[in-house]
Amino acid sequence: MDAFDDVVTALAGSVVHGLTHARVLRAIARHTAAGVRRDLAQELQVSPGAVSKAVLLAKEQGLVEEREPVALRPGRPLVPLSLSPARYAMIGVAIIAGAERPSHLLGTLIGLDGTPFDGFKHPRKYDLKDDDDLSGTLLLNQLDEFIRSLIADFEGLSMAWPDSDRRPRLLGCGLNLSGHVDHDNGIVRSTGWGESTDEWANRDFGPELQKRLGVTVTCDNDVSSLAVRLNLRPREENEDPGDNYALLSVLDYGVGGALVFHDRTRRGYDSMAGEAGHIPVGHVIQAQPDDDNEQPWTPDDVPHCHCEDPEEGSARGHVQAFAAPDSIIARAKAMQLVEGAGPDLLAQLSARPRADRAVSRIFYQGGVALGRSIVSAINWINPGQIVLYLPPALAEKNHYLAGNSYQLGLTTEIAQSAFSVDYSDRLITKSVPEGEMKERLAAAAAYLVLGNLLEKIAEHPRGR
Ligand SMILES: [Zn+2]
Repeated sequence: MDAFDDVVTALAGSVVHGLTHARVLRAIARHTAAGVRRDLAQELQVSPGAVSKAVLLAKEQGLVEEREPVALRPGRPLVPLSLSPARYAMIGVAIIAGAERPSHLLGTLIGLDGTPFDGFKHPRKYDLKDDDDLSGTLLLNQLDEFIRSLIADFEGLSMAWPDSDRRPRLLGCGLNLSGHVDHDNGIVRSTGWGESTDEWANRDFGPELQKRLGVTVTCDNDVSSLAVRLNLRPREENEDPGDNYALLSVLDYGVGGALVFHDRTRRGYDSMAGEAGHIPVGHVIQAQPDDDNEQPWTPDDVPHCHCEDPEEGSARGHVQAFAAPDSIIARAKAMQLVEGAGPDLLAQLSARPRADRAVSRIFYQGGVALGRSIVSAINWINPGQIVLYLPPALAEKNHYLAGNSYQLGLTTEIAQSAFSVDYSDRLITKSVPEGEMKERLAAAAAYLVLGNLLEKIAEHPRGR
């Protein structure tokens, strides 16, 4: 049996004084400076004794460790708890997008507490080889090869462990990608890359990799996995969005959304909740006042998302066709406002003066489109917070630059269309540079393992 199954068998459904291990472990994972028993008991509304009992079993399993005691005041020193950085490791692999299809894999190895596994320094990159199309089988073979190399890295580091009785174990591997992923069954329903990956549809990547590699593999959509990571380690963001929030992330090629309610990531029917990028908004944007009005819109001017089919008349312009960096660049190119290629085009456009009206308008419309998506979340679910990850060029604060129009469009749309009077203090915008976002996706993939573990443990409480 692998380590994942061992832990689930030991802890699944066990309840100590009404407290499940899933709740205790989550509380320890989330805790900031001093995760001491007393604070945890207060948070979980149980006695410190109940926490101690629940922690005991988790400690026996090597999941929880006691840190250096701290003496805050005279008396017994407090002993902070954390999830183990070393007894278990988790592999995370993100399938990273290129312009039209995935370009590479990014892999990482972390401990349960989210820190890099001892001796593993930086995320590793694997360039995907493809023929004309990257078929599902070709991708699986490359994932297999890459994850095997990460497992070998882990085994090398683990064999060097001084104490052979307490040698680390690999808890599992998480995999994320852009698209519709059935998290429960590890099946990729469809991807965010359109036709070039059509052949991936309904492939059971999770079970197939699990069978080949002999470790538990958990798959999810990229943004849902970012939500899992934020939920289990809010301190990475220096700001805890609490138990009820929506996360929206604008990645190069699209816009994704995820929901966390009552401390769990909610994926909706068939894992399709939070499709923030695929709300039709072309009609809203066409109706926006345009003082220049040099080129009135015709239906042909509406930019389309890869999932729309103009020939069937279903193309209305989805959010991500306006709001994603690649879409903004494509629109600017089509209007001959910029040329060339490269990762800096968005930053170049964003840094144009605000007076460059054609460029500003594209940014403004992108912001309105994203705002419409956020308004949908507010009006239907009214989450406590909305966390928004944006590339720096779209989080531009300087009013004299064109890129700031994105923020303007976003806040204007929310102010006009959200039923909640003032949402501004519940919208947390994080500017995340591209390279950092990719590393974050790999770490988030690893967090899928812990998220899955806690879900499995929480199932079927058997009571004691
Ligand atoms: Zn779409």
